[in-house]
Amino acid sequence: MTIAQESLQPSNQPQNKHQKARGLKPESPRPAKELCSECGLCDTYYIHYVKEACAFLNQQIPQLEQQSHGRSRDLNNSDDLYFGVHQQMIAARKQEPIAGAQWSGIVSSIACEMLTQGKVEGVVCVQNTAEDRFQPLPVIARTPEEVLAARVNKPTLPQIFQF
Ligand SMILES: Cc1cc2nc3c(=O)[nH]c(=O)nc-3n(C[C@H](O)[C@H](O)[C@H](O)COP(=O)(O)OP(=O)(O)OC[C@H]3O[C@@H](n4cnc5c(N)ncnc54)[C@H](O)[C@@H]3O)c2cc1C
Repeated sequence: MTIAQESLQPSNQPQNKHQKARGLKPESPRPAKELCSECGLCDTYYIHYVKEACAFLNQQIPQLEQQSHGRSRDLNNSDDLYFGVHQQMIAARKQEPIAGAQWSGIVSSIACEMLTQGKVEGVVCVQNTAEDRFQPLPVIARTPEEVLAARVNKPTLPQIFQF
């Protein structure tokens, strides 16, 4: 969820290459056909990358885990198998909960800390629209206030950003 802003652009690609592509119309068949989970990628010009990016067309979990975490999951470890690559798993809750957060607000607090410590320039968050608490509104939060405005789960997949 928390990423440095520059990593939002697909690496090693001229920025305007995908902008020539056209997203599919809602009723059009999807490249992954019946496996499609309607993640939203193909509704945007990022469909340009679908053959590489779609998990249902190109399974690359071990390679991506290796790239992101330095190792792939250990299939003989049930926690690794179920939750993915991790170092340690803990159950926690904040002693001073953030009012209105999903539980006690740990996700929002980590994002605020990373911003205020300068570890990231922005945090991709999902706020909601003014009209509908369940309508997701993806934003790049650049201040703790913008992170806190995105607190609480919106039980839906957010649309992909258009850059
Ligand atoms: C669609 C969805 C389904 C989930 N299902 C489960 C589940 O079945 N079991 C489980 O243990 N956990 C689930 N989670 C994760 C769980 O909701 C979080 O672990 C919890 O919100 C963290 O609590 P918190 O108090 O730290 O949250 P908060 O501090 O309130 O932070 C919630 C964060 O979630 C972000 N967010 C909200 N909606 C979305 C969205 N649609 N897409 C992406 N980010 C979003 C917000 O921007 C905010 O940063 C789900 C999350 C989502 C988004």
